[in-house]
Amino acid sequence: MREKFKHIKNWVFDLDNTLYPPRYKLFDQIDVNMTGFIMEYLKLPQDQAYAKQKYFYKTYGTTLNGLMSEHNIDPDEFLAHVHHIDVSGIPADAELREQLIRITEDRDFNRRIIYTNGTRKHAINVMDALEITDLFDIIIGIRETDFTPKPQKQAFDSFFDLVDINPKTSVMFEDLPVNLIEPKLRGMVTVLVEPSEVQHPDSKWAFEGDHSHIEHKTKDLAEFLEKVI
Ligand SMILES: [Mg+2]
Repeated sequence: MREKFKHIKNWVFDLDNTLYPPRYKLFDQIDVNMTGFIMEYLKLPQDQAYAKQKYFYKTYGTTLNGLMSEHNIDPDEFLAHVHHIDVSGIPADAELREQLIRITEDRDFNRRIIYTNGTRKHAINVMDALEITDLFDIIIGIRETDFTPKPQKQAFDSFFDLVDINPKTSVMFEDLPVNLIEPKLRGMVTVLVEPSEVQHPDSKWAFEGDHSHIEHKTKDLAEFLEKVI
């Protein structure tokens, strides 16, 4: 296993449900906030707003992208609303921290990077709770890619322009299979961080389908890092 990561210099991590497991239900809070925003903005009852949100997510990659494409909303207003969440339920992750440290301790000139469809502010909020913020050199969020989300090709173009790394010496960790398609095409090593719990039926589709672009799968990120660094 270590052999397959020998050439890696850049360790790129998605944030939500990748650096912490879905059982902390952080994304559930964001989900509720997104529905609330749509209810208010489009003057819809809760069930219709929720359906609309799922449609946006499925059609445009993110709810934000759907709202921008179909309703021309102000992305900052939306992001401030949805990322207003309580992260106190997330405990510090000493195990993950230990493994992340090994990336630069055991390997010269290696880097850790966050690439999220959320905001940089949200990323720091979550990483502060996990107590790993100081370990990341670069955080790329949705604003940095001009609000174009993963899995779009254009989003990865912006990402690689900004971070200026060679995809062929990089690895991408993600919880959503679809977000690993572009990384694989560009020559990154792809790792799917799978939830150990059962998926909510409304988001199950995102985890199904062809997985041939995924090289490695793990249910425990820290444990996986221990094996490959
Ligand atoms: Mg994620």
